[in-house]
Amino acid sequence: MSHSNFSPETQMLGYGYKPELSEGAVKCPIFQTSTFVFRSAEEGKAFFEMAYGKAGHEGQEMGLIYSRINNPDMEILEERLKLWDGGEMAAAFSSGMSAIATTLMTFLTPGDVLLYSNPLYGGTHKFVHHILTHFGIEVIGFRAGQDMKEVEKVLIESGHAKKLKMIYVETPANPTNDLIDIEMCSAIAKKYSTDDKKILVTVDNTYMGPLWQHPLKHGADIVLYSATKYIGGHSDVIAGAAVGSKEVIGKIKKTRTFFGTMIDPHTSWLLMRSLETLKIRMEAAAENAERVAVYLSNHPKIEKVYYLGYTKKNNPEQAEIFGRQYLNNGAMLSFDVAGGEHEAFTFLNNLKHIKLAVSLGGTESLAEHPASMTHADVPYEEKQEFHITDKMVRLSIGIENYKDIIWDIEQALEKVKIPAPEVVL
Ligand SMILES: *Cc1c(COP(=O)(O)O)cnc(C)c1O
Repeated sequence: MSHSNFSPETQMLGYGYKPELSEGAVKCPIFQTSTFVFRSAEEGKAFFEMAYGKAGHEGQEMGLIYSRINNPDMEILEERLKLWDGGEMAAAFSSGMSAIATTLMTFLTPGDVLLYSNPLYGGTHKFVHHILTHFGIEVIGFRAGQDMKEVEKVLIESGHAKKLKMIYVETPANPTNDLIDIEMCSAIAKKYSTDDKKILVTVDNTYMGPLWQHPLKHGADIVLYSATKYIGGHSDVIAGAAVGSKEVIGKIKKTRTFFGTMIDPHTSWLLMRSLETLKIRMEAAAENAERVAVYLSNHPKIEKVYYLGYTKKNNPEQAEIFGRQYLNNGAMLSFDVAGGEHEAFTFLNNLKHIKLAVSLGGTESLAEHPASMTHADVPYEEKQEFHITDKMVRLSIGIENYKDIIWDIEQALEKVKIPAPEVVL
């Protein structure tokens, strides 16, 4: 083993940073600057030629020009981000949405078809339906948990298979933890790709990542993150990332330069600090989530717990995908409280420690009501179809002492009055 083979959690402490370029500082400073001084006009000319991909500079190292194009904090952060997924290159963004929007706008052109999974993150759903369609891109949805062979049939019968350009998935689905088989998506993409059109598989891996699901290893081309969630991990930054091959991410970076959706130096620095504790934070949260799931599943006022550890019980047909694609049960779970919106709200309004807020993946536990909050915009029929009911509460489990989380859940559930059961004669 050489030190370049160290595990990502070891590499997060220093990979990609050269102290001798920064007065010997152990940690990478914040390069809070918009522009960089060239040593000579000739050097400036050469850097610009490299930035615009002109021939004649093969093997030369690109220099720093301007912080919308490159900045040491952004570059070192990207070097580290790519390691978790085993990607060749990463691109960092100002938000998860800017990573998603920049990626989709890089590869989709009018007349193309985007096949996407439901339910999608609300912002992505809006982007797909209001912005992509505005540019003449056709969008077709399928349901997480649906048989991909069935999806392929719909694609062929509607005549859309030839125009397919990208398959975009979120797995596990938020908030139900239904699964999608990435290898199957990749097989469909390969089948309809031609010599001059490669169909790309893109996975939003925010929910599990970058620790517990590695989409590139299952044939995906692009992995996207809202780094606001587990990667940032402290509910104090908004950021995003894309990981993949040099070819694909290189194209995304070119678009990013002109959309101006890159990350800033200070946020890059905060994410480098967050990445040092990513693994221990996520593992602590997952251990807590398991204890909370067990507690909830034995509680008389809870009807159902949606947790990856219960995939075998909840979705036996997805157990094989789970075994192949996931390394952990994660720290996101939802549950149905007996009753409806009133009972779910009583629970949420009586929490004393767990914060009533959307978002996820932070050190503190959060609770929210998907049907009226994160998924408020999903049409009623679709909510029914995806099991996003009025009695559902979603929890993002943090790294507190698990006993305190369970204490809070227990006392809030005590306030919930189960509606009288219907009398069966
Ligand atoms: C939060 C989130 C996003 C959007 O990320 P921002 O950082 O808020 O822009 C995208 N996808 C998923 C799954 C998310 O949870």
